[in-house]
Amino acid sequence: MDKTFMTRRTFLKGGLGAAAVLGIGGGTMHYLNMVDVKGRILIIGGGAAGCCFAARLMRRISNPDITLIDPADRQYYQPGFTFIASGIFKPDEVWKPMSKCIPSGVKWIKDSVVELDPIKQTARTAGGQVVEYDFLVLTPGLQINWNKVEGISRETLGQGNAHCIYDFEGAQRIWPAIQELVAKGGRGVFTDTYTKLKCGGAPKKICMLTEHLARKEGKRDGVQIDYFCCSDALYNVPLYTPRLLQIYEERNIGLEVNHRVKGIDTQAKKVYLEHHEKKKVKEINELGKEVEVERTIITPRVEDYDLLSFVPPQSAPDFVREAGLSWTEGKLAKDGWAMVDKKTLTHIRYSNIVCLGDVAGIPTSKTSSAIRIQLPIAVDNLLSIMQGKDPEKIYNGYACCPIVTDYGHVLLCEFDYNKDPDPSFPFTLQDMSKEQASAWMLKRHFLKPMFFHGMLTGLM
Ligand SMILES: Cc1cc2nc3c(=O)[nH]c(=O)nc-3n(C[C@H](O)[C@H](O)[C@H](O)COP(=O)(O)OP(=O)(O)OC[C@H]3O[C@@H](n4cnc5c(N)ncnc54)[C@H](O)[C@@H]3O)c2cc1C
Repeated sequence: MDKTFMTRRTFLKGGLGAAAVLGIGGGTMHYLNMVDVKGRILIIGGGAAGCCFAARLMRRISNPDITLIDPADRQYYQPGFTFIASGIFKPDEVWKPMSKCIPSGVKWIKDSVVELDPIKQTARTAGGQVVEYDFLVLTPGLQINWNKVEGISRETLGQGNAHCIYDFEGAQRIWPAIQELVAKGGRGVFTDTYTKLKCGGAPKKICMLTEHLARKEGKRDGVQIDYFCCSDALYNVPLYTPRLLQIYEERNIGLEVNHRVKGIDTQAKKVYLEHHEKKKVKEINELGKEVEVERTIITPRVEDYDLLSFVPPQSAPDFVREAGLSWTEGKLAKDGWAMVDKKTLTHIRYSNIVCLGDVAGIPTSKTSSAIRIQLPIAVDNLLSIMQGKDPEKIYNGYACCPIVTDYGHVLLCEFDYNKDPDPSFPFTLQDMSKEQASAWMLKRHFLKPMFFHGMLTGLM
């Protein structure tokens, strides 16, 4: 076992105490505030958002009636996948049996929701069980659409040295492949995806960690590293973007923007990309007039690789859209993200639904550290709704993306809906627009125990 791993006891003694003093994990004092509300609460999805929500609710309601539906055997600390992929964590450090995470007193239905009827207030599971609710907590995370990258599937990850760290097995398979790339030399191609994705920093982190490993091993000259980014910029939070770009340049990491992965030929080790470029073109409209319109011009491109790290497109789970809970217009409609009020985290159409975590259609990053701040707000707002009051607690869009820039430094990006810096960790004396060793210590040693022993127990 990792000697630096905090046990529950050491975390509660030291970590939680420190967190309380430092003001991390606001809302802790709420435990004193028990409420006697009535109603059947159904939580769909018991991941970072759903399980922690259940734990908090159990500490707030005197006679809770909570059912949680989730088919998973394990609760993963997914931020740890990047650290498995770079040899920092062992796979068994990042998960716990789901049965040990769901708070006692919560009825667990170990099944998947396949159909939801927000009018009848029922959810049907794959096993045919129909569950009625009065209040719904929608937290099923997101769906990774493996079928949208041709030539590879979740099951064949690793074939032809094409890898994805957004999967527990995938994260394990890439680590020996990265070591081999460094040892033997070759070209590492790293990509991300064009939809909203969980932890948009993760594909960049594994790229920079690979580059640093090659340098540490004295093998950098033999390794070419290229990053193909889907958006028109590597990152879009003003305080942090300049330093990230500088790091890519200083370390000679090739950067290309506006590229999407279409498919992979794992036998030939080729990745098929589309370069998307918006151009203004003149066209004749139906009235015979010349007009200027914006068109996306797609240019196909094929790149050879020795190691590929890719990320499939992501969306809300299908049942969310089928239930009519998704945005129907705007940027968030295409991939079915849930129609949520970005301030109160309540559903815009259905007043008895709260929604947080990756499935929520709100304009912020999909990270568990965002969930840490969403939790007390969403819980309070649900309790208000259950008491017939308006939801009043406001979420400012806080998200944190600890971008690991090397084995020892993290660019700790914390920001709100306006992309303004919103620090919640106590590093105010440091220049957080740059990578810091202190932020590495936080990420490496503190955030995982904070998740398992703080958030999942409802204490943070
Ligand atoms: C590689 C990687 C790196 C990351 N790095 C970071 C990081 O550094 N920092 C950070 O803060 N975040 C990071 N994240 C993101 C973070 O893990 C997610 O944002 C967080 O887990 C989302 O929580 P959630 O509860 O919304 O979804 P999840 O934790 O994914 O949980 C969803 C749950 O819903 C269940 N479910 C799904 N469909 C159904 C259904 N139909 N019926 C019932 N249950 C269902 C699933 O079984 C699952 O248990 C990373 C993620 C990945 C993959």
